[in-house]
Amino acid sequence: MANVPSQATPSNPGNQLSPGDEAQPGTLGSGEDLCEDCSGKGKLSDGRECPTCEGTGKVIRGIGGG
Ligand SMILES: [Zn+2]
Repeated sequence: MANVPSQATPSNPGNQLSPGDEAQPGTLGSGEDLCEDCSGKGKLSDGRECPTCEGTGKVIRGIGGG
C-alpha cells in the first residue's frame, strides 16, 4: 500500500482519538482521565454529546510530561 508517514502508526487501526485525547490509548506514559469539559459525564450541560471526549467522558492524557 502507500508509504506510511514518518509519524507513529497506530497499532490498532480504527481506534480514533477523541479531540480531547492527548495520546494514543495504550501509549506508554499516557492514561485515561476524566474529561474536564463534561466532568466525565460524556454530555454537556445542555444534553449534547461532549465533543471533547465524544461522549465517552474520558480522555487520554499524557502522564509525566517528559
Ligand atoms: Zn467530555
